[in-house]
Amino acid sequence: MNETFDFVVVGSGGGSMCAALALRAAGKSVLILEKTSLVGGTTAASGGVMWIPNNRFMKSEGIEDSEEKALAYLDAVVGDHPDAPGASRTRRIAFVRQAPKMLDFLVSQGIRLRRLPSWPDHYQQPGESVPGRAVVSELFDIVQLGEWKARLRPGFLPLPANLDEATQLPNFKRSWAAKKVLFRVIGRTLADKLGGRQRATAGQALQAQMLHAALKAGVEIRLDSPVQRILVESGRVTGVLVEKDGIASNIGARLGVLINAGGFAQSQRMRDQFIPGTSVGWSLVPETDTGEMIEEGLRIGAAVAQMNQRIGFQVALPPGDRPVKAGVQSDMSKPHAIVVDQSGVRYIRESGATVDFCRGMIERNRTVPAVPSWMVVDSQYLRKYMLAGTMPGAKKPQSWFDTKFLRRGGTLEELAADCGMDAAKLRASVDRFNGFVRKGRDEDFRRGESAYDRWLGDALHPASPSLGTIEEGPFFALQVFPGDVSTFGGLVTDEHARVLRADGSAIPGLYATGTSTASVMGPVEAGGGGSIGPTFTWAYIAAGHAVQTSGTAPIPTAAAT
Ligand SMILES: Cc1cc2nc3c(=O)[nH]c(=O)nc-3n(C[C@H](O)[C@H](O)[C@H](O)COP(=O)(O)OP(=O)(O)OC[C@H]3O[C@@H](n4cnc5c(N)ncnc54)[C@H](O)[C@@H]3O)c2cc1C
Repeated sequence: MNETFDFVVVGSGGGSMCAALALRAAGKSVLILEKTSLVGGTTAASGGVMWIPNNRFMKSEGIEDSEEKALAYLDAVVGDHPDAPGASRTRRIAFVRQAPKMLDFLVSQGIRLRRLPSWPDHYQQPGESVPGRAVVSELFDIVQLGEWKARLRPGFLPLPANLDEATQLPNFKRSWAAKKVLFRVIGRTLADKLGGRQRATAGQALQAQMLHAALKAGVEIRLDSPVQRILVESGRVTGVLVEKDGIASNIGARLGVLINAGGFAQSQRMRDQFIPGTSVGWSLVPETDTGEMIEEGLRIGAAVAQMNQRIGFQVALPPGDRPVKAGVQSDMSKPHAIVVDQSGVRYIRESGATVDFCRGMIERNRTVPAVPSWMVVDSQYLRKYMLAGTMPGAKKPQSWFDTKFLRRGGTLEELAADCGMDAAKLRASVDRFNGFVRKGRDEDFRRGESAYDRWLGDALHPASPSLGTIEEGPFFALQVFPGDVSTFGGLVTDEHARVLRADGSAIPGLYATGTSTASVMGPVEAGGGGSIGPTFTWAYIAAGHAVQTSGTAPIPTAAAT
């Protein structure tokens, strides 16, 4: 070995700095190796929401939850699948028990977090939490990072606004509450400018806080350092082979190596093998998510599973030199919008979990062309709601019409002709949907019946947050693709986050977390933050196991108050 640490982490994603902090708290040396020139991974570019059942913030706000309730919910929505070892009941129990402890640990390390005031769980099932179990970072001034500021991966929301504030902003013309939020965010932006601050939000704030704490705790972080090999001696993982500035070196890890190197959302080769019919071109995940550490795990004898799973997320692909893919889940969950297949037939609940929507779209495509599908809206919609990243009521870019990204028809029949749909089928779909709107009940797909659907809808729409007629011309349509925000399959790990071989035995010294692993969520995303909550938790579990096996006292945590 060229050098040796107690623990080596591959990738600077969600759990990396959490594990590193935990090991530092136990007095261990830690090295994080990141292949890109930026810290934070997809986690920094994300909403940064963590699904943490039975958490301290729920308790302090008097919101009912318990291990039993959370487990009942996971049991109901994840289910038991023999081919999904990552989502086994043993792992579900470990996750539910350890996630709140992980959160307490972060708080004890000075990480400032809060409950999102509302993000209902995604499924109406026993144990569901309607207020939700979502935890996010407080805004964080990244100027505090000094020279590391430039090395933090940019976030997806360039405003000093909390997520719950950001979702209200588009309503500023329709609601006094939203106007107040707008003024608050403008005030904060000006105050930051005057005060020399740069407050980040969402995933960037989370990873900035983690980076700040990790540096303070003496964690060593090396960028531009791709790990190329996991080193194994006599069946035990002893370190990694890393390349830095063209020079390869072996780095030893006395207690273990944690793989937190993301999934394979940006590898078309792996998609074609494991999730055929999906494209990197529809993914919102950064280009670094290329799956090589999952393949490296396979090379040294690890088992992989759930490789066909992902967090589907419906997107539209607006034109432009540097096209920005637009997530459209929230758009299509608003009243006055439906989704139809290429023949013009409504076949799916537009609201609800994105995983299910995208899965449904691909399933439909087996019998009727439905990838892409059409999102159809009327003029009432365009006045009130955002469309593919543009503000309500705003004139849509001419290029959208020139390139036929956005189609327009004076009547539904004209729109259908322009889109190549069967006009009679589109008319029948819209008439049937309008009938449901008038009855106040979507008899085909039950849109609007779950708390999550209603939360995604429009609280200011008098009759129903989810249902509104499509009747005022001109009418508009745009294509929607089954994109994603993550793959969800990978290395099989046990309840201690140890990587397993196909025979179920653990590979000594090797741990994994995050989207490099087969997810504890199985085929679903149970609630908002269903990736990052587990990523942090399994990293914390891995650190705890490594410390425990070294014979050191357990990692200290704060009392849950
Ligand atoms: C726009 C958007 C919003 C989202 N919002 C949320 C949300 O709010 N909540 C939620 O739960 N999920 C969300 N997701 C999904 C979530 O962000 C990801 O699933 C999650 O962040 C993945 O975390 P990770 O720790 O597995 O990996 P990452 O955070 O992606 O980190 C992996 C890191 O490993 C590095 N790496 C890879 N290979 C190597 C190597 N060989 N050597 C060294 N380094 C390597 C990568 O460069 C990367 O920095 C969102 C995704 C997107 C795109």
